Amino acid sequence: MPMETEICIIGAGPAGLTAAIFAAQADAHTTIIEGNTAPGRKLILTGAGRCNLTHNASPAELVRIFGSVQGRFLSYCLYKFSPQDVMQFFASLGLQTRIEQDGCVFPASDRADDVRDALVNRAKKLGVNFLYDKRAAKITKQADTFIIHTPKEPVRAEKVIIATGGLSWPKTGCTGDGYRFARSFGHNITQTRASLVPLVSLEDWPGQLAGTSVENVKISARINNKKVATAGAIIFTDDGIGGPAVLDMSRQLTDYLDAEKSPIEITLDFAPNVEQSAFDKEMTELLSANPKKKIVNILTENLPKRIGIFLCKRVGCDDELAASQLNKDARKKLIAALKALPVSIVRTRDIAEATVTRGGVSLKEIEAKTMESKICPGLFFAGEVLDVDGPCGGYNLQTCFSTGVLAALAAAQKDTS
Ligand SMILES: Cc1cc2nc3c(=O)[nH]c(=O)nc-3n(C[C@H](O)[C@H](O)[C@H](O)COP(=O)(O)OP(=O)(O)OC[C@H]3O[C@@H](n4cnc5c(N)ncnc54)[C@H](O)[C@@H]3O)c2cc1C
Repeated sequence: MPMETEICIIGAGPAGLTAAIFAAQADAHTTIIEGNTAPGRKLILTGAGRCNLTHNASPAELVRIFGSVQGRFLSYCLYKFSPQDVMQFFASLGLQTRIEQDGCVFPASDRADDVRDALVNRAKKLGVNFLYDKRAAKITKQADTFIIHTPKEPVRAEKVIIATGGLSWPKTGCTGDGYRFARSFGHNITQTRASLVPLVSLEDWPGQLAGTSVENVKISARINNKKVATAGAIIFTDDGIGGPAVLDMSRQLTDYLDAEKSPIEITLDFAPNVEQSAFDKEMTELLSANPKKKIVNILTENLPKRIGIFLCKRVGCDDELAASQLNKDARKKLIAALKALPVSIVRTRDIAEATVTRGGVSLKEIEAKTMESKICPGLFFAGEVLDVDGPCGGYNLQTCFSTGVLAALAAAQKDTS
């Protein structure tokens, strides 16, 4: 006998769990199907185990950050369930949050597990029916009823919320099933690409610096004549660069790299807080004021030693040289490399390593106020399965919570037609 429920949510990640709470609070009999044996497997990895669950910004700021297309779609949703609402919501679940200086919001305990547990415990208290180790294979609709086919018994539901995530970190259970389900109802899936992911360079010199990180670097690029820039920490890797500033830049480059299949040059500015001319003057003065000091020691006052040695080698000067021995040409080259070190990027790392998937269920076919399919009434989407992706900083989880709430509230209404 198939199990019967009013709302069936597929996927117990942050979007699905939030949707389950709001659906059950609205008195809908709610069942959540999860392919794994436990909920929120990706959620507990977020923020390096600390979970950057939102960003302390106004809805208007979030809309701006998501850009014109995604921002327009998410606008209603982010005003309806804003970062402030997310913090209040978690407080109501007994989980206090802390806002860090850069606006990133974490649980006060710094434990992503606590975020997952708070959601699961409230959902259970509200009577949500959890079905683990039950991977939905297919969804069909007969008259007004959805049938969710699984390797075990099927589930019959009046409404379905697809919250199956994207394609990144497939070991956490996200293998793109939601796209397949969406397609089976006639939805288009915009090209999926890796976002918030390390970048692979054409040159192999970053590999020589693998493991070296720099706290504050500005990364710039020109894409189709548009200047883009990000700033923050970077880390050199075996095949290129990673770290928060690079992940944010990957979001800007991924479409270009995939479409053009040709390298794009980015530049690294190791002194982002000083203008070029002021920096030239500062460095020249520093070198003249310390004639006996080794160049590498001057360079590494604010940079790791490995980078200082690398830069000296790159401009052809001995790093053991005293500042007074540095000729004008080498000094100019050194200063230029510190302000704009070029790296050619050939591709992003694979989507399996990406923090989020760019692309997904086309927003044109989804009602922005309800997350309901414009093609199939009673079918809803929430979270990363949608064609939304934000930068690092808690924006992606914020959209999971906001879209989850909207989908649940609309699905729980007795009449959606
Ligand atoms: C390492 C890492 C760190 C991150 N850190 C942050 C961060 O600090 N802040 C932030 O904002 N974002 C972060 N993200 C991104 C964020 O985790 C995701 O955007 C978010 O988890 C997406 O939530 P979701 O509910 O849409 O999907 P998911 O969390 O991917 O959950 C989907 C669930 O659906 C289940 N599922 C899939 N298919 C089926 C099926 N056929 N049947 C049944 N169940 C199915 C999966 O098993 C999974 O449990 C991070 C991502 C990664 C990989």
